[in-house]
Amino acid sequence: MQISADETMCPVCRNRLAFDRILHHMICAYVGPSSDFTETGNGYVCPKCRRSIASGDPACEEVGTSARCSACGQEMVVSPAAGSI
Ligand SMILES: [Zn+2]
Ligand SMILES: [Zn+2]
Repeated sequence: MQISADETMCPVCRNRLAFDRILHHMICAYVGPSSDFTETGNGYVCPKCRRSIASGDPACEEVGTSARCSACGQEMVVSPAAGSI
């Protein structure tokens, strides 16, 4: 399922959505929401390769945004705001 970036309500049950950044760890090619990564004092730990990722690490890029409804559990990808390519 995909929603637009200005959507804040679940399209299924109209409850509030929780947004999360989707991160790409280039060293091991893991792609997942930032909640999959273990937060440390100064960054993250990759859930796949267990390497630590410093904040602003060039080996880790943000590739998008996901949204999840805490009420019904529906997960969706947030498409970029209209106007951007
Ligand atoms: Zn990794
Ligand atoms: Zn919902």
